[in-house]
Amino acid sequence: MAKCMFCGIGTQTNEDALPRWVWAYLDVRGGAEIRRQGDGGLVRRIDKPDVRVGGPCRDCNSGWMSRLETAFQGAGGARLLAGDAPVLLASEDLRIVARWLMKTALMLHEAVAYQTGRVTVPGAHFAALKDGAPPDGTQIYIGGVNASGRDINFLRPIQLDHAGNPVGYVMAMSMGYLLAIIAAPIAPTAIWSRPIPPSLRSHFEPIWPLPLPATAIIWPRTRDLTVDGFDQAWSRVTWRGAVPAS
Ligand SMILES: [Zn+2]
Repeated sequence: MAKCMFCGIGTQTNEDALPRWVWAYLDVRGGAEIRRQGDGGLVRRIDKPDVRVGGPCRDCNSGWMSRLETAFQGAGGARLLAGDAPVLLASEDLRIVARWLMKTALMLHEAVAYQTGRVTVPGAHFAALKDGAPPDGTQIYIGGVNASGRDINFLRPIQLDHAGNPVGYVMAMSMGYLLAIIAAPIAPTAIWSRPIPPSLRSHFEPIWPLPLPATAIIWPRTRDLTVDGFDQAWSRVTWRGAVPAS
């Protein structure tokens, strides 16, 4: 039996890729949109709001992951999805939000990788999330989207390669009014440009690594983006390949 992707000890069970409270909160009945790698075209809409993934074990799912859901809601997570009022996020909230976003992105990736394309995610990244925070070198940004606020989109993950070796990956998703970008290095000394197209930087707030000095942020900075506009800009971004340690 395959081992849990987070702890590497327990046996994988079939779990919700996206927590049920999110589906319920956003009143999602249709499901996720999966967009094609390259042109961003819609490949498939999952018509049931229960994307499952055989990744975590029961202990992780009912343990730290369950506690993380509670913590995320306590940190204002539900209001980020609802987007009906600005949300004040203190430094300790940002840690929780960043961890939740990356955990959720990796779960969605596992669930839909056969459709969106799989990127290389080192086991250490799953372990770091289980142990409390995104792995070293990860950059996470959040923005606000101008939309009906009920959709969930997992935009195609991007693999960053150098000389044929994976050196990092970038994932993006929207949930309700929340847009998130997660960029994680595989090579420890990977060098890359900031994973946000210049035209979009003013729309996003960097939340991981934690901004210094520790100050609260108010989300969203703007709400001018649509998911379509975001995806188009995202498609156009050109990546400077990371350079692995020599
Ligand atoms: Zn586990």
